[in-house]
Amino acid sequence: MAHVKLHIPGPVEVSEKTFKALCSPMIGHRGQGFKDLYAKIQPQLQTLLTTRQLVYLSTSSAWGVMEGSIRNLVQKKVLNCMCGAFSDKWFDVSKKCGKTAEALQVEWGSPIRAEAIDKKLATGEFDALTLIHNETSTGTMSPLAEIAALKKKYPDVMFIVDAVSSMSAVPLKFDELGIDVLLAGTQKAFALPPGLAVFVASPAALAKAATAKDRGYYFDFVEFQKNAEQSMTPSTPAIPHIYALSSKLDEFFAEGLEARYARHKKTNQMTRDWAAKHGFTLFPEKGFESITLTCVSNGARPGGRVVDAAKLQKLVKDQGILIDGGYGKIKGTTFRLSNMGDETEATMNQLYAALDKAMAQL
Ligand SMILES: *Cc1c(COP(=O)(O)O)cnc(C)c1O
Repeated sequence: MAHVKLHIPGPVEVSEKTFKALCSPMIGHRGQGFKDLYAKIQPQLQTLLTTRQLVYLSTSSAWGVMEGSIRNLVQKKVLNCMCGAFSDKWFDVSKKCGKTAEALQVEWGSPIRAEAIDKKLATGEFDALTLIHNETSTGTMSPLAEIAALKKKYPDVMFIVDAVSSMSAVPLKFDELGIDVLLAGTQKAFALPPGLAVFVASPAALAKAATAKDRGYYFDFVEFQKNAEQSMTPSTPAIPHIYALSSKLDEFFAEGLEARYARHKKTNQMTRDWAAKHGFTLFPEKGFESITLTCVSNGARPGGRVVDAAKLQKLVKDQGILIDGGYGKIKGTTFRLSNMGDETEATMNQLYAALDKAMAQL
């Protein structure tokens, strides 16, 4: 079967090198070999997230940790900040966990603003909030530093942040932000195959989790901490993925984190330029566009070019590249182009060339 290269915003294209690392010989998860592997990547993950806390490895997709955060940290009422498909769904997940939840909903394409959160938290009703840093469905980034600054005013509120499609592509300094949970699935910006999530929790979050009677076992934060102290995980982890993560982290540091961040900024700007060149506008509110993917308006916003998104997607796929035709209620009226993972200026130029050719055929 011909290989179709992924330029969708997750899962993203996985390199041969990463697949090779994934296929390393199996080891036992309670043996020294595994402990050495985890102990080797722990400081790399801590440097990546600028934290002194232990970073945990969860054998699940991101939703496991997203649900786990609710079960570990919500006792009174959670404020779910909602601005797109993934953040909207977190509200349903809170309710499915039996928690009292309130929606802070803004229009898709708008970011979540600190003032809106401040107003809600001022009621004193909440002991937790959920926020998605980079809402992948709309390509919108919320101002995390501005929101995290509220933590000083509300120290007892647990700030749970999903950085699934931004972690490793933009600087995220966990300790400095002062938030309580930061999590990501590794099939997005990390460019690993799906199946592994990484997360970190504040000392306050761990203390609070310890008091939660119904936090369950698989995503019990206390268990993650206890095991991580021994360079282990609570249950048998996806060891192949952890080999792949180790290889990937070596690549991050060989490139240099600053260079990695700059690369994403550059390739994202190139995609925005491509869209502008063809008369498209972008879907997100100006100034809040994601830097790991571009959500192009294709009729969702007034003005700008409109094309048959499904046809565009097919014409590009015929050239061996998969782009995304829009997600949820903005399917077709937007389309999304990812620059996450290993993409360089050269590989992005191949994408634009395929898109240009498809545009000429529309
Ligand atoms: C992809 C994504 C998720 C869901 O990840 P799963 O791997 O399907 O659990 C959650 N949040 C964001 C922002 C995402 O992009």
